[in-house]
Amino acid sequence: MHELGIANSILEAVRTEIARVPGGYATKVSVRIGEMTAVDPEALQFSFDVLTQETNLAGLQLEVQICPLRNRCEECGEEFIVRDFDIQCPKCGSLRTKFFSGDEFALDYLEVEEYGTSFIGAQSTE
Ligand SMILES: [Zn+2]
Repeated sequence: MHELGIANSILEAVRTEIARVPGGYATKVSVRIGEMTAVDPEALQFSFDVLTQETNLAGLQLEVQICPLRNRCEECGEEFIVRDFDIQCPKCGSLRTKFFSGDEFALDYLEVEEYGTSFIGAQSTE
């Protein structure tokens, strides 16, 4: 299942980011996934929940934004969203257009909150 691998990559990215914020914990992660990757957001959410439960990332919210496939026209430079595999430039009608976006997977943002700084003594997050 391809979504499980993606969920794993998201969590790796989250762990890397969170390591930079001492005393912080992640509350929400937002990712952008290209339409070309054919990821099923529900399956991804499910994998994500399975992987985070009973870890220190349990309860972390996942937001998935699916980015459409986009082409750029080689004639006029127009960038447009490809629908139904129609790669013709909507502006000048050229068929010389090239795919430039839509297969990406990227961490968009991560919401991090810090534990209260007023506590005294050792508070373990383990
Ligand atoms: Zn064009």
